[in-house]
Amino acid sequence: MIEKNIRSIFSEYPEVLYGFTDIAYSAYADTYQSALVFAVPFGEQLTIETYSEEMFEKGIQDAKKIVEKIQIRLKEMLCKNEIPYYIPPLAQDNEIDLTAPFSFKFAAVNAGLGWIGKNDVVVTKKYGPRVRLSVILMNEPFVYGEKVLHSNCPEGCRKCVDACPHKALHNVQWNSSSLRSDIIDYRLCNEKRSLYIKTHGRKHACGLCMAACPLGEF
Ligand code: SF4
Ligand code: SF4
Repeated sequence: MIEKNIRSIFSEYPEVLYGFTDIAYSAYADTYQSALVFAVPFGEQLTIETYSEEMFEKGIQDAKKIVEKIQIRLKEMLCKNEIPYYIPPLAQDNEIDLTAPFSFKFAAVNAGLGWIGKNDVVVTKKYGPRVRLSVILMNEPFVYGEKVLHSNCPEGCRKCVDACPHKALHNVQWNSSSLRSDIIDYRLCNEKRSLYIKTHGRKHACGLCMAACPLGEF
């Protein structure tokens, strides 16, 4: 019933990718059984040729607006049906380890939406890495997606690695036992993007390693 209602809402957003996964692995497993994960394409599907930081940031913000609209629809439906839920924060709560309380990326991979690219973000077949993720935790059973266990990046591709101006990416193909530190020097990436805060009041969106990805339909 709830799954049917959720699927009905997403039928109004055919461009959005979504799936379900069990979250027995997570710190929230005592309270919630499952996660709904959805991926909204950035408003602008920029390539390295069309990239600008401002356009990239705008694409992220446009996707955020769609995420918020969908969240409102889902929350209304869940409240009406008296289904408890929790929307974990996307933002990192720890500037040292740069981790969020619930990994959207890990949930997306487990729900079958994509894999982790050499750029350390979720890469989907349809949009490459140009998506914004959102998650809702619920204590309900769903038909779960098929977990993705290894990278589907083309053999030998290293466009994201070469696009990083700070050499933060290690040219490592992900699999389900990879550590984030195998793939990216995340502290270096964060440090360089944080230099922007003084002048722009926000971190640099960067995204060169996403714009450089050849995957996705343009
Ligand atoms: S976001 Fe920018 S700095 Fe960070 S890994 Fe990608 S290209 Fe490098
Ligand atoms: S640029 Fe190539 S290696 Fe990097 S995420 Fe995209 S497909 Fe994978």
